[in-house]
Amino acid sequence: MMKVRDNLPQRRTNPTKTPTGSNWSQHKPDLRVDFHKHCAYCGSYDGFSHTYFEVDHFVPKSLFTKTGNISLCQYSNLVYSCKFCNNIKLSKWPSNDETVPNINNMGFVDPCTTDYDTHLYRTKNGSISWVTDLGKWMVEVGFKFDERDYAVKLLWELNQLRKAIEILTLEAKKYHPNSENYNNILNKSREYSEQYFLYRNELDEYYKIM
Ligand SMILES: [Zn+2]
Repeated sequence: MMKVRDNLPQRRTNPTKTPTGSNWSQHKPDLRVDFHKHCAYCGSYDGFSHTYFEVDHFVPKSLFTKTGNISLCQYSNLVYSCKFCNNIKLSKWPSNDETVPNINNMGFVDPCTTDYDTHLYRTKNGSISWVTDLGKWMVEVGFKFDERDYAVKLLWELNQLRKAIEILTLEAKKYHPNSENYNNILNKSREYSEQYFLYRNELDEYYKIM
């Protein structure tokens, strides 16, 4: 089974900046690196400019500002997230206890743990599906991946093509521009680029009607 994200995000122990108060967005450049430029939840790539990427508080701000145990700028609670995942997740937190991310198969799993991938997976068409009941809750309620399936799949297809074109570009450099190998790679790359262009238009059209 494919994972939702290609690489597991890993938060650094010593962030570059030490913001306080409500300046948590100063952590965004570090988060972008630590989350490999992809949304921690849906795995979409931030380079398509389809949405603004945000800094999500894994334990929602509204919850812990009451108890005061977590600081707003605490790096270990921050997540690099696309606007869609962040906006749908909002302040959902079924346990109402900041130390309990999920209860009775409802709630969330820290996307920086391998545990995240035990609940969700990527289908061969690029959709996000579940393995467990908690995963089902995340798909249908927590992030509404099912409702967003069209965009989730398109963004995945685009990212696959982007990565393939990147590999071919590097590969082409190994050969002489007059060689057959070079031309084969170039043709393949053109084919992917055309497909990429079509998907890219499809995505733009989709977000226009949103
Ligand atoms: Zn997302």
